[in-house]
Amino acid sequence: MMINKQKAVGVLALSWAALTSPVLAQQKDYPIQPVAFTSVHVNDNFWQPKMEVNATVTIPYVLAQCKANGRMDNFLRAAKKLDGDKLSEFPFDDTDVYKAIEGASYSMQNKRNPQLDKSIDSLISIIGAAQEPDGYLYTFRTVNAKKPHEWIGSKRWEKEEDLSHELYNAGHLYEAAVAHYQATGKRTLLNIAIKNADLLVKTFGPGKIEEYPGHQIVEIGLSKMYRVTGNKQYLDLAKFFLDVRGPKGDAYNQADKKVVDQHEAEGHAVRAAYMYTGMADIAALTGNTQYLAAIDDIWSDVVTKKLYITGGIGATGAGEAFGEAYQLPNMSAYAETCAAIGNVYWNNRMFLLHGDSKYIDVLERTLYNGLLSGVSLSGNRFFYPNPLASMFQHQRSAWISCACCISNMTRFLPSLPGYVYAKNKNDLYVNLFMSNSSNIKLTSGNVNIVQQTDYPWKGRVDITVNPDKAGEFTLRVRIPGWAKQQPVPGDLYTFMDKKSFPLTLMINGQAKSFETEKGYAVLKRTWKKGDKVSLLLPMETEKVLANPQVKDDRGRFAFERGPIVYCLEGPDNKDSLVQNILIDKNAIADANYHADLLNGVDVISAEGKSAKRQLKTDSILQTDQMVKAIPYYAWANRGPSEMTVWIPYETSAVRPKPAPTIASTSKVSASLKNVRMFAAIKDQYEPANSKDTNYPYLHWWPAKNTNEFVQYDFDAEHTVNESKVYWYDDGPWGGCRIPVSYKILYKKDGQWVPVKNTTPYAISKDSFNVVTFEPVVTTALRMEIQLPVDNSSGIHEWAVK
Ligand SMILES: [Zn+2]
Repeated sequence: MMINKQKAVGVLALSWAALTSPVLAQQKDYPIQPVAFTSVHVNDNFWQPKMEVNATVTIPYVLAQCKANGRMDNFLRAAKKLDGDKLSEFPFDDTDVYKAIEGASYSMQNKRNPQLDKSIDSLISIIGAAQEPDGYLYTFRTVNAKKPHEWIGSKRWEKEEDLSHELYNAGHLYEAAVAHYQATGKRTLLNIAIKNADLLVKTFGPGKIEEYPGHQIVEIGLSKMYRVTGNKQYLDLAKFFLDVRGPKGDAYNQADKKVVDQHEAEGHAVRAAYMYTGMADIAALTGNTQYLAAIDDIWSDVVTKKLYITGGIGATGAGEAFGEAYQLPNMSAYAETCAAIGNVYWNNRMFLLHGDSKYIDVLERTLYNGLLSGVSLSGNRFFYPNPLASMFQHQRSAWISCACCISNMTRFLPSLPGYVYAKNKNDLYVNLFMSNSSNIKLTSGNVNIVQQTDYPWKGRVDITVNPDKAGEFTLRVRIPGWAKQQPVPGDLYTFMDKKSFPLTLMINGQAKSFETEKGYAVLKRTWKKGDKVSLLLPMETEKVLANPQVKDDRGRFAFERGPIVYCLEGPDNKDSLVQNILIDKNAIADANYHADLLNGVDVISAEGKSAKRQLKTDSILQTDQMVKAIPYYAWANRGPSEMTVWIPYETSAVRPKPAPTIASTSKVSASLKNVRMFAAIKDQYEPANSKDTNYPYLHWWPAKNTNEFVQYDFDAEHTVNESKVYWYDDGPWGGCRIPVSYKILYKKDGQWVPVKNTTPYAISKDSFNVVTFEPVVTTALRMEIQLPVDNSSGIHEWAVK
């Protein structure tokens, strides 16, 4: 606890005494303490450039987008500095501004930036002016729009358990305020946060309003506020918000059971990850063992049944939620960027509680794969879901009206150096590998640590230990799970080759045998200046298999080297196709560094085959070809493409290239702007059912009750007499249903003429709807579709004969 106090005081010794609450020695906190990112100066070739792009591109970009998309105006209007009652789209839009301030604060600590400092100051003064006199801060109510947003309720907090997000906004405000205070020593935003938190203390609690937050994060925010101010009321309130949760609410936001009775991950994945993180914080700060028991069970449930190989969590777009055990679809994987960030927060807390490297294994996997994929190499394009397979339908966006993932990435990246080390008295944990120079205070004295490595491309890590004066302490160096045949704790993923590779640890050039404890090499000795530990990790290309219960990964493997998960992407492979590729289980894979590709990556090459459907026979043609794989995080930086993480080794798993049918050789057009959906209707994949989102489909959502069309322009004149269409219908929760009616027209002398059907136009779900008609000779066929009154429609596949 002293460490915490010092951390906060370190940057602000002068104004510490001026804090509103007396600084009481905190009795409890995490047994292991993170080494603050401000003490860790990363200078490697992998993360440092990404943090630089975040500072120079992403942060200014996100601030400008917040302005362009009305978020700054929300505050200006609440502050009565701008007329009118126009608001942006969502009542949680205030949080994007808070998260941008949090990211800017961290980034200013990594590198001074007076101009940014000034613009954040003026932003904070506007936020202060938007705050109501009693501390309430929520622009969507304060602006007092004539037509209030339907989520906010007529009174404060009335819809908090539902969708108002008032406490969600507060939580992000607190995180931003603590970051800004610690970065700059200024109390401006912290004072706003204290005033707001004091209002919450007055409003919520036993005998007051007894409601739980509809979207968790305020628990984490209040814990941070407690640490920085010493005001125990904030901690008590955070605990109250957890204890008041359940059992009468919904699984969607983890309110169907008391939090201590929850033992499996369920519902909205971001809400869940933030809640588990908050539970860890409060368990550490209060010593609550029931919270601990619950999150230990939930963690096991996630890593053994609900974790993507990329570290992503939240399998399904319906409710942005965890799926059932082993439900891990690839093309429709949700794996929201925010959930990956939440997964890192949570696993780091689990490590700080237990001191076991298995949590850092999950953290590292998430960090290098499903989290990093959320932002483009350019720093200004973003993924919300992070799928593990694509057929052109996915692409990063410049902005998303719900911008949570964008601002979350902005704030996460500059805080990354804070995950490299941790300490407990005279134990120093080395968790992540990236070149850096750090100054760390142990009980025995100050130690400067210099890490030099080309990780994640090379497995050698040199750690030079420079204590101020020679002294005994323990270095605990993480031996990653992937280096010892355990990619993820549990049996969800295993390496195909059981061969283990040697792992060497040297001290001052001499190989040493070492004891391991909870996944760490324990090096206890009297360290003197210049002592050098070298860890030689086996950076080998591994083929990963999923547990056979994951049906989407059966007959497939994924390439992995060290912490990096690979994927096949169109631009590196023949005909820009990858879904048709097959690689033998025993194929030998090579890896080579390409400095000029995707900012420098290792590329894996292996002999494979491509599969192709043929006309007039069901047999599938296979042709030899070289296959290349790139790191998953770097995909989708070269335009829309095909991509897959899980590579078929069994023919049954491959998706062959379509046969050259009339449809597949046609040009598609439609009454739709999103051309990336067009190829879906002629890809010759038959979905499992109408609501199968794991194959591409075309849809008109949110259009309703309109007449729409799709059209095939043939490669030449053809005689046709049959159409078969498979409708997309994601009822009862989604917005698409089978259409009211449809008809087929053909082009005759430049005009669209209805065909003369000889069978009825049947419309049903979950199978092809075939209609035959009198043969026509034509160059184009069009399908006109009448959408339902209250819903949209979509098409999985449209074949013609
Ligand atoms: Zn998000």
